[in-house]
Amino acid sequence: APFTDLLFAPDALPGGPKVVPVLVPLPAERPYSYRVPEGMSVEPGSIVQVPLGPRQVAGVVWDQPTDPVDARKLRAITHVFDCPPLDATMRRFIDWVADYTISPPGLVARMVLRAPVAFDPEPHVDGLRATGVLPPRMTPTRQRVLDTLAQSPEWTRSGLANASGVAVSVVDGLVKVGALEPVSLPPHPAVPAPDTAHGRAELTPDQREASDRLIAPVEAGGFSVSLLEGVTGSGKTEVYFEAVARALDKGRQVLILLPEIALTQSFIDRFHQRFGAEPAQWHSDVPPRMREKVWRQVAEGRVRVVAGARSALFLPFPDLGLVIVDEEHDPAYKQEDRTFYHARDMAVVRGREGGCPVILASATPSLESRVNARTGRYAHVPLGRRFADAALPDLSLVDLRRHPPARGRFLSPVLLTAIEETVKRGEQALLFLNRRGYAPLTLCRACGHRFQCSQCSAWLVDHRLRGTLQCHHCGHAQHRPESCPSCGTLDHLVACGPGVERIAEEMLETFPDARTILLSSDLPGGARRLRRELDAVADGEADIVIGTQLVAKGHHFPLMTLVGAVDADLGLANGDPRAAERTFQLLHQVTGRAGRSGLPSRGMIQTWSPEHPVMQALVAADPDRFYDREAHERQRAGLPPFGRLAALIVSADTRREAEEHGRELARAAPQDMGLEVLGPAEAPLGLVRGRHRFRLLAQGGRRAPLQAFLRAMIAAAPKPRGSVHVQIDIDPQSF
Ligand code: ADP
Ligand code: ZN
Repeated sequence: APFTDLLFAPDALPGGPKVVPVLVPLPAERPYSYRVPEGMSVEPGSIVQVPLGPRQVAGVVWDQPTDPVDARKLRAITHVFDCPPLDATMRRFIDWVADYTISPPGLVARMVLRAPVAFDPEPHVDGLRATGVLPPRMTPTRQRVLDTLAQSPEWTRSGLANASGVAVSVVDGLVKVGALEPVSLPPHPAVPAPDTAHGRAELTPDQREASDRLIAPVEAGGFSVSLLEGVTGSGKTEVYFEAVARALDKGRQVLILLPEIALTQSFIDRFHQRFGAEPAQWHSDVPPRMREKVWRQVAEGRVRVVAGARSALFLPFPDLGLVIVDEEHDPAYKQEDRTFYHARDMAVVRGREGGCPVILASATPSLESRVNARTGRYAHVPLGRRFADAALPDLSLVDLRRHPPARGRFLSPVLLTAIEETVKRGEQALLFLNRRGYAPLTLCRACGHRFQCSQCSAWLVDHRLRGTLQCHHCGHAQHRPESCPSCGTLDHLVACGPGVERIAEEMLETFPDARTILLSSDLPGGARRLRRELDAVADGEADIVIGTQLVAKGHHFPLMTLVGAVDADLGLANGDPRAAERTFQLLHQVTGRAGRSGLPSRGMIQTWSPEHPVMQALVAADPDRFYDREAHERQRAGLPPFGRLAALIVSADTRREAEEHGRELARAAPQDMGLEVLGPAEAPLGLVRGRHRFRLLAQGGRRAPLQAFLRAMIAAAPKPRGSVHVQIDIDPQSF
């Protein structure tokens, strides 16, 4: 745009100060204008520090001009970071995501500039730490720096300033008064370069064919999407590693997205075996200084491969040659916080904007990706068999009506017998139940009182190992009392229904000699302990494993030959149109943990409704039929991917305000755009953290202008007043 040229031509405005738009990490619709001080030079994409109210924040010099302003009244850019500017692809990506998700671009930029990130050169000797000496004069900005240091002791200069929201000069000032001292940070081990010839696997002919089909688009360059669909254990990872190798040989960067990467040490190990080096990792457990390093080295093109959680999508790769989304169907890819986005879909957009191929991999692809493969939008690359001809587990349904568990127990005698036989053979059994804690509901037998969260519309879950009753939505926890708070009767509280802790208890009582291990994300020790325990299971150090959905993912347990799904109907009850698909994927994945090393194996699915299409599709091992049926249903209902859908969640401190604003929005819906609004109706979780929630759904055909419709509706409705807040969820995952 000519106006942009004007802005960035240094001598276009002779005499007058230069003004540039800067996108700051705030929910602002447009960039703000800042003055460029004499002698400073910036370009679109430059990462700068700017004053914002009382704080200093990192922002990006943007392309769009802002409204004309009097330059002399503007505040000046404080600092230009010494790091590569965000390139045009990245800037377009930010704009695209903001536009699609109806999110202020500043909030999307925030995901890119996420603290802590150091934008100044590699710290070798110039790290900083607190000396313990308090500055003679304490100011709020100085206090913020010291608070940041309390969280993590060692920082780079700009990383510390950025994480504290203060100018770099505040940090320098603290050094001057002796509160901070330079420290020679041990240099990070350089992120080692992967070696594509290191541990090349001998692929089977089927695998070779699939890998050739994935390599071709990498070779050709340019945007494309391939869906790699292969049963669990067919070697999808080995196959896509060959595409990774090709991209690396071409000198390009590679991004591999994984759900729950903090738990997938096994993936990192396999990558290491194949490429002789670990990939750089990016997720919330990576310590701040490591993140600084990875961010910077990605921006400089020095990190070649990143394995990361969905947030890795916002790393500033200058030369991305391949994006892989492993387990592309996984619900963990959906972010439902601030900016609602689906990382799989945004990965496809990132590939398109950057002109590079994308590979989606799964044993149970999302219906969306399946439909795209079927209609030819995506290349379909199937991988039919398990590696080394390991047979898939023999799946059967346990009809709980015919084989009910004993009173107060949850496992059918049929399943118990199978567990006993498995353990006797020296093999492992996995019991899967997607519910943390001991019991989902506690009630008083004397008066019927049920323990409910006061802030959420949810029961309190009994976590017996911690001795607490907890809300899974707001985190509220209280001690489990001895007597009923309602009628005062002592010792009449009963646990209703099972959680994994209760299944573990049943196993300990039924098989006291077996080594039983419970895997659940809420147990003390966090991700580190879980990683250790997953390793122990893989090494055969347990006979019976009880776990939540975290055991469903990607793990390779060679001795696992029996998987029992304790309550297969659990996910089907909630009336969500995606429930059947989710349940199918989860049960298929979890039973797929069995028999991966060639031993004969079984999957037993406990259900009250064996005639349900999901259960039938599972035992018939006929995913095609299931997906076709689902696709048909969705098409009939005009639901995604055959139609467009968005949810608006209106929340407020009172029910009345939330509902009233929901009504106002619905009334403001344009009548002539081919979309309709359903609701407002109370949201599936009507109360969360004390906020009442109502939901509207906007629905239209495949080509309906969903975003324009929502924008028009929001613009025409009165602005939210008081405590009212509206969240927009494009392509909601549950609806
Ligand atoms: P998937 O991702 O499809 O579930 P994996 O890639 O995890 O399958 O492979 C399953 C197991 O088989 C892994 O232990 C893997 O190392 C092994 N495997 C697959 N293909 C080969 C191969 N060509 N050579 C050696 N081992 C292989
Ligand atoms: Zn709660």
